Amino acid sequence: MLMFRKERRLAHIILPDGTAADRPVEIRTDPITGRTCRITFSRSAEREPGTETLPAPPPSALETAACPFCPQNLNTHTPRLPTEICPQGRLYRGESVLFPNLYPYGQYSAVSLMDTCHFVEIGTADAQRYADCFRNCRDYLCRIHAIDPKACHWAITQNHLPSAGGSLVHPHLQVQADAVASNYQRFLLARAKRYRHRHGEGLLSAYLRHEMRTSARWIGTTGRWQWLSAFAPEGFYEIWGILPGVTELRAVTSDDWQMLAQGILNSQKYYRSLGRNGYNLGLLFWGIDKCPVEVRVVLKVRANYAPWVRSDLTGFEMMLGDMATFTAPEAVAAAAKRFWSPST
Ligand SMILES: [Zn+2]
Repeated sequence: MLMFRKERRLAHIILPDGTAADRPVEIRTDPITGRTCRITFSRSAEREPGTETLPAPPPSALETAACPFCPQNLNTHTPRLPTEICPQGRLYRGESVLFPNLYPYGQYSAVSLMDTCHFVEIGTADAQRYADCFRNCRDYLCRIHAIDPKACHWAITQNHLPSAGGSLVHPHLQVQADAVASNYQRFLLARAKRYRHRHGEGLLSAYLRHEMRTSARWIGTTGRWQWLSAFAPEGFYEIWGILPGVTELRAVTSDDWQMLAQGILNSQKYYRSLGRNGYNLGLLFWGIDKCPVEVRVVLKVRANYAPWVRSDLTGFEMMLGDMATFTAPEAVAAAAKRFWSPST
């Protein structure tokens, strides 16, 4: 049984004008990780510089001449895959091109470009090209699996704009495979294995069943993907897309990739409506038999990439380890829903 725990506390303060006030803070526990987070409601009234409207594109949005990912530089400025992975050196899917990361994070670390467009504002990418970019990552992971099955901890991530950790604005995904699990990969695999052993079902299916029943955080669907705001977010405006019952990368169909791209674009349009231009997304996979973890994409808004914007991580997150967001997940779901309507 998954526990969706929340506890409300009041901070009693005297306001500058002398009146007494009780400021509510909610502490929520993620049923999957057991990690706590805080919803500090009153901070949503704080002015956040740089979020009044969508910030203008960064100066690097115009710097195509020096961009290694732009078509005129791609072949001469990016590395090639070794022959045992791909004799042609790069993988192609529609407009998407995949090649190794010049600055790898692990044993197998690659970059998948969306297309030849140097700068694409949040929420305006082409869904087909986004899906091809994911399919290219899938192809890369399948090739790695064929030559090195021990490198079974897989991830596809995106850092949109430098405030989210992106070093180049040219739209791309990172993909990696490693024999050594990351903290989240190690934890999730063990947790999902235990849960399936005890309850005979997927952890995320159980999570989703609870959320569909309560519906307060459910946003919508794209194909087989179910979209919802995280119950205990560890990032701002955190949205999850779950593919219930699907645990293997190879079981993600061509249509699933297309529908994933659509849901991500819907999420981005919602973020754009909030004047936000930076985000991270991530999908974790395991190249193992009988993988117990179902497929999930997670999106989190990051601090805007604009002058004088403060970081989204404070001493609370860095030193206490609890994320403190400002908005109730139920409010996130209610506001995001309209981006899932058939006309968007
Ligand atoms: Zn470029």
